[in-house]
Amino acid sequence: MLFLHIFRLFCVFQDVLRNILDLNESVIQNEEFVRCVSGGKLFPGSVPLAHRYGGHQFGYWAGQLGDGRAHLLGEYTNRKGERWEVQLKGSGKTPYSRSGDGRAVIRSSVREFLCSEAMHFLGVPTSRALSLVVSEEPVWRDPFYNGSVIKERGAVVLRLAKSWFRIGSLEILTRTGELDVLRTLLDFVIKEHFKSIATNDPDKYVVFFSRVLNETAHLIAHWMSVGFAHGVCNTDNFSLLSITFHYGPFGFMESYDPNFVPNTSDDEGRYSIGAQANVGLFNLQKLLEALKPLLTSDQLSQSQQILREYPQIYHQRFHELFKAKLGFLGNEEKDSYVIAFLLKLMEDTGADFTMTFRQLSEVTLSRLQKGSFAPSLWALSDLSSHKHFRDWVQLYLQRLSRIMSDSDEERQHRMQGVNPRYVLRNWMAESAIRKAEKNDFSEVTLLQKTLMEPFMEQEEAERAGYATKPPSWAQQLRVSCSS
Ligand code: AMP
Repeated sequence: MLFLHIFRLFCVFQDVLRNILDLNESVIQNEEFVRCVSGGKLFPGSVPLAHRYGGHQFGYWAGQLGDGRAHLLGEYTNRKGERWEVQLKGSGKTPYSRSGDGRAVIRSSVREFLCSEAMHFLGVPTSRALSLVVSEEPVWRDPFYNGSVIKERGAVVLRLAKSWFRIGSLEILTRTGELDVLRTLLDFVIKEHFKSIATNDPDKYVVFFSRVLNETAHLIAHWMSVGFAHGVCNTDNFSLLSITFHYGPFGFMESYDPNFVPNTSDDEGRYSIGAQANVGLFNLQKLLEALKPLLTSDQLSQSQQILREYPQIYHQRFHELFKAKLGFLGNEEKDSYVIAFLLKLMEDTGADFTMTFRQLSEVTLSRLQKGSFAPSLWALSDLSSHKHFRDWVQLYLQRLSRIMSDSDEERQHRMQGVNPRYVLRNWMAESAIRKAEKNDFSEVTLLQKTLMEPFMEQEEAERAGYATKPPSWAQQLRVSCSS
């Protein structure tokens, strides 16, 4: 690990500090603590580790990888009895750094720091982030892989997850034939994190596979429901606990477009937002291949059958989440049609994904019926230009009218609880990063505050334009794997 020349700018998520690490605010005044979260000193009792894993990257086996710039500091069991694995990212070289420098830069660190917490407050399972420390030490990067290497500044994020094991953690062991270690690791993961699976159950690996499959399908449906594109859905970035991690070139979709690709390094659009469900299936196939040496032929057939159920599990969850976004209660045959119809209108008009659903949650039904919207309802105004918008509104209103004793207020309340007003759009992150690079962390702090309550309208966030049309300069923004 390294000692960073700590800059006085230092951001912390209080929720993680208090509710996960049982610490109070005063600790951040403590110089020792700051040294610990920047990689300059070890927490008492910590034995840092780097994790070896492999993975399929962009569809191909990439061989051995590992934590090239993440140090696992240890495990913390908090007052609630929850065990959290604590990591530093960007804290220097590890045995798996290969030719890398083990460092991370401000832009990628700010994005991970903000987005992992933003996802948590959106209700999506994710790794968490405690702190962001920046240094004056130079880090050299080629942000757009065009041969222009520039000097950036280093940063370290302290992040947490119940487990950092991923599909690639198992794949590497199967590939190298380390089957005893594979069994030991799987038994550990099951014992620690899948407590309802009996350790003496002869089918425990099948049950484990089935659980991971279910939760992964649910996670990806959840991503879709908030318009989140992960950007690099390689098997080394897919958690065995089905949490979102590896916040690299992710993006929240603005204009609705199933072909939205947040990562400019992804030339073929392998990880477009609309491809994520299928990529999930590919990754689960790779998980099953990793488990294969531990399964009998009967168990393998059972697992293959479970794999075939994935599309249905995914679609069912997607359907439930989008029904809730539209304020529906109960089930009606035409619900899928009403959802797909709206998404098609959004695709045709390029309507903003987040704000279309949010503004539908805020508008009164009588106003929706009239179909002319104030400029503040810009996403609905965009949508209403479509020649079939009125047909959809009619279907929608009829569907809502069949929900017994549901008032406009109740529907709005329900919908506003699942349709965020604020997500971490690229331009918001970029604006905060540009200031942070000049040691002005005011916008990082504003985003921290805003994204902790994404469903609540907030004065400062409104003034910053976080719920208005993205500024025109945002269209030129590009995010790559460089970090
Ligand atoms: P990623 O593309 O970020 O998923 O990283 C792929 C592999 O490269 C992982 O093993 C990372 O830990 C490692 N890696 C990425 N960036 C660096 C870096 N700057 N220094 C060392 N290892 C890195």
